[in-house]
Amino acid sequence: MDLIALAVPFFLAAILVELFVNWRKNAGYYRSNDAINSISAGMLDTTLGYFTKFLPLIGWGFVLQNFRLIDMPLEWFDASARGIALWVSAAVAWDFCYYWFHRYSHEISVLWAAHAVHHQSEEYNLSTALRQTSTGFLFGWIFYLPLFAIGFPLQVLITVSAINLIYQFWVHTRLIGRLGPLEAVMMTPSHHRVHHAQNERYIDRNYGGMFIVWDRLFGTYEPESDDEPVVYGVRRPLASWNPFWANLQVYDYLMFDARKARRWRDKIGIWFRRTGWRPADVEARFPKRNVDLTQFEKFDPRVPAGVRRYTAAQFAVAIAAVLWIAGVHAEQGAPAVLVPCLALWVMLLSLGFLNEGRARARLFEAVRLLAILPALLTLFAAAGGGLTQSAWLVAAAYVGASLLWLVFLSRKDFNKQILKGIN
Ligand SMILES: [Zn+2]
Ligand SMILES: [Zn+2]
Repeated sequence: MDLIALAVPFFLAAILVELFVNWRKNAGYYRSNDAINSISAGMLDTTLGYFTKFLPLIGWGFVLQNFRLIDMPLEWFDASARGIALWVSAAVAWDFCYYWFHRYSHEISVLWAAHAVHHQSEEYNLSTALRQTSTGFLFGWIFYLPLFAIGFPLQVLITVSAINLIYQFWVHTRLIGRLGPLEAVMMTPSHHRVHHAQNERYIDRNYGGMFIVWDRLFGTYEPESDDEPVVYGVRRPLASWNPFWANLQVYDYLMFDARKARRWRDKIGIWFRRTGWRPADVEARFPKRNVDLTQFEKFDPRVPAGVRRYTAAQFAVAIAAVLWIAGVHAEQGAPAVLVPCLALWVMLLSLGFLNEGRARARLFEAVRLLAILPALLTLFAAAGGGLTQSAWLVAAAYVGASLLWLVFLSRKDFNKQILKGIN
């Protein structure tokens, strides 16, 4: 049973509720371009994960098979007092490993390159929680190996890891203040807001997943202060709505420095040094600009309201597509969803370009739509009647309607430009 997949409808429903409260209060915690980018990163992580997430399982399975200290049969984890104690100890142990994984994800450059994605949003709302990295599978699993070496069953650890991740969803909100005694033990929205800050006072604090006790124990705890409002985001802004670039940006910085460094030990060492460390010769030739948070401006390229409406509507289609892909994946496995995933990835890229207001974005979007039309019509013809045929027909109608909308948008802007020219 995939707990995270089960939780997705609740995530989406909670986001709608938060959006509604945000709108009623006129709080300004949501921007469509930012939320689309965050959820796109989540979609990318989920769908790319169909092709990458077997890697941790190989490492974990290997250690469990060959190096486990204790044989813990799955039957031990039942509803008895001992079973519950074992479940709780697995969940706490997972969170302990998560703390160290998360802490090193901030402190070591190559791990930060993967984790930075989660911090790039300059807003803070439930959509930020879905902003997950697509390259976490590379190193993240290593930090949990001790639990497999102890001998916790794979199913138990997979379940507690899902519970850990699901727990972390609700702390990404500005609508919940402080929660009294809960703040002493648990990770709460207030503690996690601090974690997403780029303020000097808050940066690199509060790493726990479910519990804040690890931060209190290991000296990384910082409470949220009313005197210093949180500035969300990262010190080197992403300044893009491209979800692929979001995943590559920090690797690109590191690659640049590694290429420019003169000494080999720096070229290699840079990946494993403390985040922010740069070889002296590179720093001298390509100095980094200093961050001045008083001058901080959110990345928010202006695009016509019509384009924003178009991308929001298309994004609703993307959400439906992801849910459909997840269903097919659950039934038929990864190879069956490769082509739909490719179509989805191009779609997310295109919506990012549109929200950035790029000159060629509409052309790119039109080509995307035209490229999938023949595929949909072929599927329609091959379906040979019935429900499937009408589904492909609806999909083809979607492409047609989208193209018309796109032409309409472009004509409206074109007319505006002509009028401006006359005046
Ligand atoms: Zn973090
Ligand atoms: Zn977070």
